[in-house]
Amino acid sequence: MVKCSICGKQAIYVDKVTGKGFCKNHFISRVEKTVEETLLQALGQSSLEKSTICVAVSGGKDSTSLLYILKKLSDRYEFKVQALSIDEGIEGYRDLKIPFIEKVSRKLGVNLHVRSFREEFGLSLDQMFEILSEKGLEIKPCTVCGVFRRYLLNRIAYSLGADYLATGHNLDDEAQVLLLNIIRGSIVNIAREGGVSSPRIHERFIPRIKPLYRLTERETALYAYLNNLLPPFAECPYVVFASREVVRRWLNSLEEENPGTKIRLIGVKETLQKAISRKIGDRALRLKTCKICGEPSAGEVCKFCQLREYLGI
Ligand code: SF4
Ligand code: ZN
Repeated sequence: MVKCSICGKQAIYVDKVTGKGFCKNHFISRVEKTVEETLLQALGQSSLEKSTICVAVSGGKDSTSLLYILKKLSDRYEFKVQALSIDEGIEGYRDLKIPFIEKVSRKLGVNLHVRSFREEFGLSLDQMFEILSEKGLEIKPCTVCGVFRRYLLNRIAYSLGADYLATGHNLDDEAQVLLLNIIRGSIVNIAREGGVSSPRIHERFIPRIKPLYRLTERETALYAYLNNLLPPFAECPYVVFASREVVRRWLNSLEEENPGTKIRLIGVKETLQKAISRKIGDRALRLKTCKICGEPSAGEVCKFCQLREYLGI
């Protein structure tokens, strides 16, 4: 029997990198401490105090756990927490998650703001996918989903006067995105996709923070389970289109054979980020203003406006 390395009780979790075991209570406090340290390291205590953090809640285990932990920390560090959720309009998936997000937010006493694609853009993601397929355009639903969701989250957070937009990306997500950016040769994205936070690179861009990014998916799943935060099981029907899946499986098998691969990749990413930022300068990382909608954009016209044009909305 593996014992908790702190109190000697039976361990429920063993960290494969260090070989240390943790009992339920010490596992929970270790996860919360990691999030706290990540936040403090990213923002510093003074920036955290009196700030408003909007949490993007998808109704998955990661973002739900994030909302729960940030709410716990908000009293100690005197920041405000609001929850944002986007209903993309995916039948049999999103409609199961929204009631769960409402229930958790109510229980935590957090204000929840839900916006839907249908209300904001006149079409659900399901309808958008149909239109794109009819037009023979090979644009994946995940591309439309991601672009429109990020656009809305930023706009809502900006309208609420948020200082930061927190997302539930974990260590696995970060390592996968790093590999995808390398495969695509997106050097600027490696520097821009801050693992912890990205600075205010446009006056309308709400800086992102990823407080879970030092925790593996396995750890966030166990944390959610131990705190009764597991959402109803539902898988997005479009997951087969997600280009990450292959990278995810490959990375998991590497981690299995060489524990610590993911955290080492994140270390490499942080070193790369500093080197790239020094080389290309902060100005290159700044976003432009979309000449159609006025929102932050990498190019002259943002991806959101380009997709709207394809969809005819
Ligand atoms: Fe959106 Fe794709 Fe994720 Fe489904 S799998 S929620 S379409 S990004
Ligand atoms: Zn635009």
